[in-house]
Amino acid sequence: MASTDGVSIHPSVDHGVREGNPSFSGGVLTCHCTTNPVKVRLSAQTAHNHVCGCTKCWKPDGAVFSQVAVVSRDAVEVIENGDKLEIVNPDAPIQRHRCRDCGVHMYGRIENKDHPFYGLDFVHTELSPEEGWAAPEFAAFVSSVIEAGVEPSRMDGIRSRLRELGLEPYDALSPPLMDAIATHVAKRSGALPA
Ligand SMILES: [Zn+2]
Ligand SMILES: [Zn+2]
Repeated sequence: MASTDGVSIHPSVDHGVREGNPSFSGGVLTCHCTTNPVKVRLSAQTAHNHVCGCTKCWKPDGAVFSQVAVVSRDAVEVIENGDKLEIVNPDAPIQRHRCRDCGVHMYGRIENKDHPFYGLDFVHTELSPEEGWAAPEFAAFVSSVIEAGVEPSRMDGIRSRLRELGLEPYDALSPPLMDAIATHVAKRSGALPA
């Protein structure tokens, strides 16, 4: 097994994964601006929290992975300085709303009602000082960190460290989420009863 010494994943998990609090019911995300930060209130606990190696998710400086979860879009409300938000790429399936001053992504929203994850917004709970958010459960799009410049020779160490943290590494999403996407596609095509 590869050495995991000094392998960093994301600051929220590098010292161990903290358990979530099942009775936790939300908090406020704040961007990194020191003046007039954007604030977004989440009025619910998140689900499917995970670390993600894709090149689209926002990562804090120096992190190899992002940490990202979903929450019902009805539970997401911009409460301060929403005029600073801009959409990173309006043509992407997930419209990531970032602060134009500090670059932090505040929420990602899907507007296509046929998308398997329509109704869920993508959020980074590390932007909230509250404790009790759902813990990350797995690692998604692990091979994609190479696209961001990670040497392929480091991948054994990265996957070993993820397993050590209890974050099973997948090169797409986790099997339950991949199954949910495939079920959505099959119901739309008629391969499965709707
Ligand atoms: Zn900002
Ligand atoms: Zn991602």
